[in-house]
Amino acid sequence: MTVTPHPAGVQTGGDGDCLDVLIVGAGISGIGAAYRITERNPATRYVILERRARIGGTWDLFRYPGVRSDSSIFTLCFPYEPWTRPEGVADGDKIREYLAATAHKYGIDEHIEFHSEVRAADWDSTTDTWTVQVDQDGQRRTYRARFVFFASGYYNYEHGYTPQFPGVERFTGTVVHPQHWPQDLDYTGKRVVVIGSGATAVSLIPALARTAAHVTMLQRSPTYLISASKFSAFADVLRTVLPRRVAHAIIRARNAVFEGIIWVLARKTPPLMKWLLRRQAVTNLPPGYAVDVHFKPRYQPWDQRLCLIPDADLYTAISEGRAEVVTDRIACFDADGITLQSGAHLDADIVVTATGLALQALGGARISLDGTEIAPTDRFVYKAHMLDDVPNLFWCVGYTNASWTLRADITARATAKLLEHMRTRGYTHAYPHLGGEPMAEKPAWDIQAGYVLRAPHALPKSGTKRPWNVRQNYFADALDYRFDRLDEAMVFGRCPRPALAG
Ligand SMILES: Cc1cc2nc3c(=O)[nH]c(=O)nc-3n(C[C@H](O)[C@H](O)[C@H](O)COP(=O)(O)OP(=O)(O)OC[C@H]3O[C@@H](n4cnc5c(N)ncnc54)[C@H](O)[C@@H]3O)c2cc1C
Repeated sequence: MTVTPHPAGVQTGGDGDCLDVLIVGAGISGIGAAYRITERNPATRYVILERRARIGGTWDLFRYPGVRSDSSIFTLCFPYEPWTRPEGVADGDKIREYLAATAHKYGIDEHIEFHSEVRAADWDSTTDTWTVQVDQDGQRRTYRARFVFFASGYYNYEHGYTPQFPGVERFTGTVVHPQHWPQDLDYTGKRVVVIGSGATAVSLIPALARTAAHVTMLQRSPTYLISASKFSAFADVLRTVLPRRVAHAIIRARNAVFEGIIWVLARKTPPLMKWLLRRQAVTNLPPGYAVDVHFKPRYQPWDQRLCLIPDADLYTAISEGRAEVVTDRIACFDADGITLQSGAHLDADIVVTATGLALQALGGARISLDGTEIAPTDRFVYKAHMLDDVPNLFWCVGYTNASWTLRADITARATAKLLEHMRTRGYTHAYPHLGGEPMAEKPAWDIQAGYVLRAPHALPKSGTKRPWNVRQNYFADALDYRFDRLDEAMVFGRCPRPALAG
């Protein structure tokens, strides 16, 4: 689609007065939303606004060595576009390539406008349209759309989270946050300390350890790690004997079930899961290794995200002496490295602060209704993708305990279904309405991850009863979607002055 500037400075959707759908973000969720919405509503006029220069979102932003999926790529990719590479745990650049190829194959890339950051969206109830303020290539532009779909992810793209380390200014080496990895950083033959023990740290360390002189993982406390094969014999066989799409559907369903079983086992039988994970560590680490010091977390499995280490690569790096784990606390930085509270000192040329993300809802955009700004984080979330009393706005967020795309795809399909329902009945607005019904509140993400605990009010609220209850349960949500009642707690209406014929 070509979006042409209106003489008054308003961007229009080509022939008509305004767009049908404005999608914010060209990552997994934005591409998936475009696919599902047009699959069901082929005439939809839409644009995707992306603040970066390329497709991919997370998989374009994060470029540190070893960046990869930490859930199965078969469930992280789209159900309608088979993953054809051999590996089942994919490197970041391969995921980005897959997303770019998918967007190209379905003509979605023609609808993307890069260097376009959505700053604000205001709902106009006299025309039932959103007016969206966008910083585009250094200029402020205005778009109008009947629906806005936020596929903007869940964290701040500008900066990650870095604690204030005492004395860090005295350090003469290089400090790097994985969210802003300098592509020219040469770590060959260098002593590297990685602060953190989450998914990023355990992906980075084996990759750095290939050429660095030595890599130390400095953690305050251990994390649960699970080793699984990077390649799947099951997937290989199925892809050989079955048509591509059939094989993909089976592998995807099987992996979703498998990941679900691991989660249920962890929550329902923590002692068994702890035993299994400890056994993996003991088997893969050298005899006498202090497993209970470095790999015995204080929390229950899946209170925090279970971190995948493909083919036990972290344990291998440790066994071969290329990497080590230190469980201690930072006292202060000095010129040569880090002094620990135990009194030990870690010499370092490079320190990587794998200390996490800064949570952010709706891409940091300001939302207002008829000129009155609202706080999306004060609103309850409806069926995990709309906000209480906010018309024609969708928000796409994945699961914390399963691959993101499993829910992102349900959200995209639910949006497409609602748009079709409205189109065929001539409705111009729809908003979920809680009304005066008292609703207890629970965290939308019931996971003890650092970035969630640091910012408990950064996300919209979850209720405790359907359809306001945000669940981390793919199978229940998939079932719900099948039997979804579109009019459940939903107010539909027609505007006397609709923006376009549609
Ligand atoms: C290092 C890392 C590894 C991960 N690994 C996995 C994994 O293995 N499995 C899994 O399920 N999940 C994983 N996740 C979660 C991951 O973010 C999701 O899998 C998925 O990539 C999210 O896709 P998305 O399109 O919703 O958001 P994102 O990938 O975050 O993309 C959002 C896009 O929106 C754009 N955007 C944001 N705000 C604005 C704005 N205001 N205006 C315009 N554009 C905007 C951004 O530039 C970005 O391109 C990982 C996350 C990280 C950080």
